[in-house]
Amino acid sequence: MNLFRKLIICKSCGKFYNLKTQRGTEVFICQTRKNYGTCDSKTIRMKEILYMIEKHCDLSRVEFIKDECEKLVSEIIIDKNGNTNIFYKDGKIGRCENSKITF
Ligand SMILES: [Zn+2]
Repeated sequence: MNLFRKLIICKSCGKFYNLKTQRGTEVFICQTRKNYGTCDSKTIRMKEILYMIEKHCDLSRVEFIKDECEKLVSEIIIDKNGNTNIFYKDGKIGRCENSKITF
């Protein structure tokens, strides 16, 4: 499954984030970092992104389906410190800065 394909953008180099399994954990990693190791952007765990969307959209864990959250998000931007902005299709923005999440 290619979740969030072309939805997550690296603020440092402008490339998309790709999904990758790292030691059994699904993570999103900047394409440049993954292929060339030349971007210092932060790799972020999939479950962190999903958690933010889940909380923002008030979805319960039982009902929560990964495919559904892709329909709610228009863009995700991650900077080199791992700070994340999630832009929702309803015009709202969810932020995670210094591991502190605001909805
Ligand atoms: Zn990058």
